[in-house]
Amino acid sequence: MAGLKAVVVDDIDSDAGQTPGAIEMRLHYRSEGIAGIGFRCPCGCGQEGYLPIRAKGEGRTQTSEWEWDGNEESPTLTPSVYNSGLPCKWHGFLTAGEWRSC
Ligand SMILES: [Zn+2]
Repeated sequence: MAGLKAVVVDDIDSDAGQTPGAIEMRLHYRSEGIAGIGFRCPCGCGQEGYLPIRAKGEGRTQTSEWEWDGNEESPTLTPSVYNSGLPCKWHGFLTAGEWRSC
């Protein structure tokens, strides 16, 4: 199954950020690297979600973080993305900058 390209945008609330699957790399408030990824639900429902992340090898600071491979253009997150806050209950993976539902 073909994946959906995760287009990296500066602001998920911009016009470009309305694209299904668009992602925004969000910095820590003290600008010490990337804290998480804001995203527009890949299913096309228009909902916005947020995934707190930590770089591979970094200590875990929150219980609910995804591991990020450090690639800002084509990120890979593990484990799978399931945001129960989204009404659509989309569940899938972000791998090498592509969304794939499962
Ligand atoms: Zn959705």
